[in-house]
Amino acid sequence: MAYSGGKLPYETASKLGHLNVVQSEWVRSLIKDFEASKTELDIDSTIWTEFSDEHIKPLRNIWAVDGSYVKVASDNFPPREVAFVKTALMVLDKARIDKVDKKYPHPLILQDIMSDSGIFHATVFPLKNIRTKVGSNYTKVRHIVRDSIKIDSEGSFYETLKWLAYMKWDPKQKNPSPSFTCPHCHKEIPGLSYDLDEDECPKCNGTVFLTDMIGFHLDMSEDSAPESIASAYMSIMEHLMLFTAIRLSWHHTDKNLLNESLFIKDGPLTLRGQYSKLVPNIRAFLEYAKKQGRSIHIIGQEKNGVFVDHLSTLARFVSPKEKGEKLNYAILSHEYVRREVYRAPELTNPYGRKTNWGEKVYVKLDPKTYIVLNVPTGEYNEDDTFPYNINDLIGFERILATLPGLISHKHEGALFPIGLANAIASMSSYPSAKILQRFFEEYDKKGGSCSIK
Ligand SMILES: [Zn+2]
Repeated sequence: MAYSGGKLPYETASKLGHLNVVQSEWVRSLIKDFEASKTELDIDSTIWTEFSDEHIKPLRNIWAVDGSYVKVASDNFPPREVAFVKTALMVLDKARIDKVDKKYPHPLILQDIMSDSGIFHATVFPLKNIRTKVGSNYTKVRHIVRDSIKIDSEGSFYETLKWLAYMKWDPKQKNPSPSFTCPHCHKEIPGLSYDLDEDECPKCNGTVFLTDMIGFHLDMSEDSAPESIASAYMSIMEHLMLFTAIRLSWHHTDKNLLNESLFIKDGPLTLRGQYSKLVPNIRAFLEYAKKQGRSIHIIGQEKNGVFVDHLSTLARFVSPKEKGEKLNYAILSHEYVRREVYRAPELTNPYGRKTNWGEKVYVKLDPKTYIVLNVPTGEYNEDDTFPYNINDLIGFERILATLPGLISHKHEGALFPIGLANAIASMSSYPSAKILQRFFEEYDKKGGSCSIK
């Protein structure tokens, strides 16, 4: 551009008035909104509630899962592309977390925790221009997905996939898997029969794997796979790792173990698009657990996106505004999400029906710390005013009583266990440890205390 100084020659902002478009009432309103900042009067304070943790015990066993992925391209032509995906699950005793300085954690203490409390999973996907003798890119990715899930941690994650797909928590049912699209003939398969790892497609007789049900092949062409395969795999593995901890706790002889545990996922409790096949089953499990009177404490923390942006515009108008004041939380109904966050009153589907297995909650812990959480409710309720109150969010009172002890004061609004899981998931290598097995062995040995040491 041939001008400098930030303004067009012979023109200032106030002369915008000469533009015809400003005569539009819509444009005028846009400019007004743009110029006005949010004020205390705009804030719907009725949704905020003060929380008192008197007589509520914090949870003892803290699990956290996080993942990362990176695309790597070669320099030669045509560039070959692969994606590395890494995920990590971490378990910590609350007493051990309490001992860590959340502002200046000692590096040796962190190293100590990380070296013996995490489970690491990693795999690699061919994206473009990778030629091998064992078949097309399409076939390769399908096999890598199956083998990666199946081989690691002696099949624990794969067993969790089967547990979710066939709803194995209920011993009386022998459910088929969710239906899916055949990777060969692309026709809909009603689902694999109970407990099968693979079967023939009833339409084309091609071999289909249980892992095809997840839907990776729907994202691919014969020759190449998009980067979204890596992010989808990361999200699926985060779910499978977290639910492995939940599954093992659920079936443990000591029923109190699950009751005393908090499971934290980085990011929303969401499986998007075709990857949402497991969402109804996850909700069904949480509903089943609720009916059995067993609380499963799960949260997902959103660290970016529309909810974080929205909360950041209103957080300063909400209590606690002074140090020492009590924590406040706001449960967002579907109607509130549409009206205030998305500003789209006419969504065709009820909010989050297909993809979400948690509802949105804002929490402000102290004058500077506020976070966006997802919390499960069990079966989906499409009522616009749902969730109605704290009793709809599974185990939320004990979750709230636990949160203040988990906040990292090194990074704004970060949960300390997620930070550790993230550090492990970002490492280039991590010693494989049989943490799952050790956790449950130690727990039994110590009669209900779980610090792995
Ligand atoms: Zn077929």
